[in-house]
Amino acid sequence: MTLMKESRMIKLVTSQTPPTYGVSLFIFIAVGFIGFGSYKYYTQSVDLKYTQIQLNDLTENSNQNILILREKIQAMKDENTGLYSSLEAEQTRNNQFSEQVESMSTVVGQLYKLSKTDRELLQKYSNIYFLNENYTPSQLSEIDATFLLRKTKPETIHSSIKPYLENMLKAATADSMPILVLSAYRSFGTQAALKTGYKVTYGTTAANKFSADQGYSEHQLGSTADFTTPTGGETLNGFDKTDSFKWMTQNAYKYGFILSYPKGNKFYQYEPWHWRFVGVELATKMHQENKNFYDMDQREINDFLVKIFD
Ligand SMILES: [Zn+2]
Repeated sequence: MTLMKESRMIKLVTSQTPPTYGVSLFIFIAVGFIGFGSYKYYTQSVDLKYTQIQLNDLTENSNQNILILREKIQAMKDENTGLYSSLEAEQTRNNQFSEQVESMSTVVGQLYKLSKTDRELLQKYSNIYFLNENYTPSQLSEIDATFLLRKTKPETIHSSIKPYLENMLKAATADSMPILVLSAYRSFGTQAALKTGYKVTYGTTAANKFSADQGYSEHQLGSTADFTTPTGGETLNGFDKTDSFKWMTQNAYKYGFILSYPKGNKFYQYEPWHWRFVGVELATKMHQENKNFYDMDQREINDFLVKIFD
């Protein structure tokens, strides 16, 4: 009986077990799911948070990198601007330098020209400054006989001045104002002999009045000539009464000739026949400003030396 009861009870217990197991299993699974879900959620949210932090870090890094890049770009821009300014400054310097080189080469050219130009050609001669007795012009040329009073007595002049002289005399002839050369280049010896001859003929005092001492004579330069007319001949006095002289006073400067000793000059007796070549530029200035060569400052005159044959 007891055994029977027991077995029935067991049966009873056994028959009541299945629903309890099912629920427990369900709960267990549900809890498992929830747990797993929560865990997953938790781990995912942790992941997300971590990712977000990472993203934030990344963003911050990126922002910093952008800032650094911006700074670098700005620095590069500044550097570029600086380089551009430097380049510009360099170009300006280069331009200035080439201008300097250009003006220097002009100066060098002028200095070279000046070094080749005889400074005596524009020198004032006086008892303070006179020409060395050994001085001779660099090159002399014979004047075309057409322009000479004495056709058979050759006269010479500085080779560079010859064209100016002959052009002037051609122009005078073309204007029906014939002008002839009586005397041009005279050496120291010739001048000395001439002076001695004058002294013998006219006496020392008279000779000193109209013939320069050797060494003071512009004729020794080869740049000076005494002019006359076909009718005036060898008589120089009276040349200033001729139309040819008047023509000279109006036109000689265009060919670079000036009257060395005009009326009233303090340096020497009036010599209307005696004309000296000083170059067109200086002669023109003197003509326009009504200046006398010997009254001018030697330094002012010297500025024209470089242009004497221009
Ligand atoms: Zn003379």
